[in-house]
Amino acid sequence: MARIAIVSACLLGIKCRYDGGDAVDERVIRAVEEELLIPIPVCPEQLAGLPTPRECCEIVGGDGFDVISGRAKVISESGRDLTNAFIKGAEEVLRISKIVRAEFAIMKDCSPSCGFRTIYDGTFSGSKRRGVGVTSAKLKLSGLRVLGPEEIFR
Ligand code: SF4
Repeated sequence: MARIAIVSACLLGIKCRYDGGDAVDERVIRAVEEELLIPIPVCPEQLAGLPTPRECCEIVGGDGFDVISGRAKVISESGRDLTNAFIKGAEEVLRISKIVRAEFAIMKDCSPSCGFRTIYDGTFSGSKRRGVGVTSAKLKLSGLRVLGPEEIFR
């Protein structure tokens, strides 16, 4: 039976990334085509009201959990503090997940919103660290399982 899941919209081919591109993932597309997955596409950064394309952002001082608890910030490459926008986007995704009664979430790794295992380290140098993005942290704190595309039906 098909399962309802929140899915980072860029994984489904929606061109919502900061650079105007997508991050289509064939494993997710195949799961939809095989009617194993009913995807609810969300882009937390667009839901926050940010434009596309938009500035690249990184979490400075921690990961998504630290942003939610006030110990870290989301900063754009030019130095703008977009912490509140990223928290708003996370709250909107959580609201949608409850409306649709999502069973889990499939997220795009390395994003300051959707990263579920890895994020950039806040130095804008291309270096990464372990950690989750703000939306993945919010969903995890609510008790929702957050997975990567490779884990869909494991
Ligand atoms: Fe994809 Fe998430 Fe970035 Fe939106 S915020 S483009 S859904 S990774």
